[in-house]
Amino acid sequence: DWINFTDFFNKIIDRFEMTKSGHVSFVRNIPNDALYVDIDTDKITQVLDNIISNALKYSPEGGKVTFTIDILPSELQIRVKDEGVGIPQESVNKIFDRFYRVDKARTRKLGGTGLGLAIAKEMVFAHGGDIWALSKEGQGTTVYFTLPYDPEQEDEWE
Ligand code: ATP
Ligand code: MG
Repeated sequence: DWINFTDFFNKIIDRFEMTKSGHVSFVRNIPNDALYVDIDTDKITQVLDNIISNALKYSPEGGKVTFTIDILPSELQIRVKDEGVGIPQESVNKIFDRFYRVDKARTRKLGGTGLGLAIAKEMVFAHGGDIWALSKEGQGTTVYFTLPYDPEQEDEWE
């Protein structure tokens, strides 16, 4: 479906903002303009749910979660940044593998199966996008993904 990604992303963040506990704050760097993309909204909702629920799950008291959309020449780059526990350098590329979980002892008490990001990767790839993460232990994690975007498309909506 062709949808306005700006509205779509804001609504997903709103839903998390309404239900989150008070211990984290949200910051949005999201353009005001409509950004039309052709996506499977159920699947990209799941991608964002998985990324955002991780950001909340691994955030400390008082942590900030920042949501960003950058408009690149042929894609939208979406980022979710947290100030959580972070991920060791040698593991940061493995978090998209099925059932991979960093530090079993640490994550066991937080629950989960280790499938969230593997599913997210599959769905982003099915849209022709990419997904990756950058992290510093003790400082936080940023998860990035891209979706193909044609800026010309906006003109056709005028
Ligand atoms: P599930 O999502 O299936 O409930 P999960 O959250 O453990 O379980 P993934 O979402 O696939 O699984 O994440 C894989 C692992 O990557 C996590 O177990 C955690 O160790 C690490 N991870 C993911 N996101 C973050 C983050 N924002 N900060 C720190 N570690 C993270
Ligand atoms: Mg998860």
